Amino acid sequence: ITEQGGGRISTLSAESHKVLNRRSVIDKKMLTALDHKNLQVVYQPKLDVASGKVLVYEALVRWEDEELGQISPDELIPIAEENGLINAIGAYVIEEAAKFAVTLMQEKPDIRISVNTSVREFSNSSEMKEKLTSILKETNCPADKIQLEITEKFAFQAEQERAIIRQMKELQDAGIRFILDDFGTGYASFRYMQNLPISKVKIDKVFIQSLLTTPKTRQLVEGMIHFSKSMGLYVIAEGVETEEQFNALIEMGIDAVQGYYIGVPMKQSDIIK
Ligand code: C2E
Ligand code: CA
Ligand code: CA
Ligand code: CA
Repeated sequence: ITEQGGGRISTLSAESHKVLNRRSVIDKKMLTALDHKNLQVVYQPKLDVASGKVLVYEALVRWEDEELGQISPDELIPIAEENGLINAIGAYVIEEAAKFAVTLMQEKPDIRISVNTSVREFSNSSEMKEKLTSILKETNCPADKIQLEITEKFAFQAEQERAIIRQMKELQDAGIRFILDDFGTGYASFRYMQNLPISKVKIDKVFIQSLLTTPKTRQLVEGMIHFSKSMGLYVIAEGVETEEQFNALIEMGIDAVQGYYIGVPMKQSDIIK
């Protein structure tokens, strides 16, 4: 920040100041927002190809603040992971999802809600298991109505990995299924596929976006589908926006499809209607 003109320097620092400031305001307001239930959960349908039915809705957290505007989960979650509120946010989303699952169950007995989790939520001994068990009990939600999505974005150390796998296996025994989210984007896809008790993988939307424009991506996606299926996994594609993408994926043998082409994230009340 040295050799440039004074104006340039101050513009740059004003910009970064704004970013830092927004971050710190989000950080400060998060606990109150959570306490006042100002966070919302919306649900996006996932279409199962074999049955032609929506069997799963994915829960996605939303936060709209009058001063800050829309705070996307991509902005919110990393800050929550840093300030420690990720566990409370996770509990809130699971509770909302469990209540919704119980509501939907009456009319659609085969429906399931998929909840995104951060690996950080598994890093403290048996916290996730205790949290989940008590929420399911409180809401009267059967364990097999909830499935958890974990991303491979986060690295964890070897000793942590063992503890996480143990917790995941206990949850699996209790009926909870795991999805490996953002499949293909992390550095540890194969390792996670090998070591974690997952039953489904979700191919990340970056691959779907260039599926029809880049021949190599098409081959890659085809490969990911075949390889995952050969390992006995159920394969989902996310970010499907067009009929052409949808048809191409069906041809490749995809098990389930999610994206704006199937349905956008919706409020619970709009789904019930
Ligand atoms: P994700 O789990 O990969 O979720 C998919 C994201 O893509 C969502 O963004 C969704 O709204 C968006 N999306 C869905 N269909 C389409 C489509 O056809 N085209 C495009 N371009 N986008 C589509 P969202 O809701 O902003 O969430 C972003 C990320 O934040 C999620 O990525 C997930 O990793 C994380 N996240 C969301 N809710 C939670 C939560 O409750 N807990 C945790 N730990 N993470 C969450
Ligand atoms: Ca997800
Ligand atoms: Ca994803
Ligand atoms: Ca993502």
